[in-house]
Amino acid sequence: MPELTTASLMQNHRAATTLVGMLEGNGRFVAGEPRYKRDIVAAREAAPDQKPSAAVFTCIDSRVTAESAFDCDFGQLLVVRTAGHVPDRAAVGSLEFAAAELGISLIVVLGHERCGAIGAALHAVESDSHDPRTDYLVEQLWQPASQALAEASAEPDTASHAMRLQVRRTVADLGRRSSLEGVLVVGAVYDLDTGVVSLIDEN
Ligand SMILES: [Zn+2]
Repeated sequence: MPELTTASLMQNHRAATTLVGMLEGNGRFVAGEPRYKRDIVAAREAAPDQKPSAAVFTCIDSRVTAESAFDCDFGQLLVVRTAGHVPDRAAVGSLEFAAAELGISLIVVLGHERCGAIGAALHAVESDSHDPRTDYLVEQLWQPASQALAEASAEPDTASHAMRLQVRRTVADLGRRSSLEGVLVVGAVYDLDTGVVSLIDEN
């Protein structure tokens, strides 16, 4: 467990406050009452500088738009995306840059239901099929897909289970990196139908 210093407590407090603010933003989004229009006026106002307080690491899925889901304006949220939020080198390097240079205190790993990347990995594991176009991604997602299939009797929604395993795996991967020390990393799931973001625990 990291040493609790005044600085680390302040950093944790900042991250927790940021997270609460993002979940409030999600509440506005779900209620159909967004605060921000993200139009050209807002873009111009934000143009001189950026001070994002959090990063969202999410999937490339075209139905998942972090700025909308958390009702954030230009300059507030740094978004890193890879299919199935696979934490490969460029993605992690981007988050490390955000922590070191932009001072973010929070990373939200955001999975979503009906994830195509997870679906492709499940299909590949089940059918033992091989497609050079998806091989890299399937390899990266092989572990959660095969674990979800092995646990199908306890967790019948295999796709949802695999996605949640991948969120937890990504959170654990980022959480143990010394380069991201002091940054709070949490996992969450976005519901495509309702727009609701729900935090998930680590286990
Ligand atoms: Zn996805």
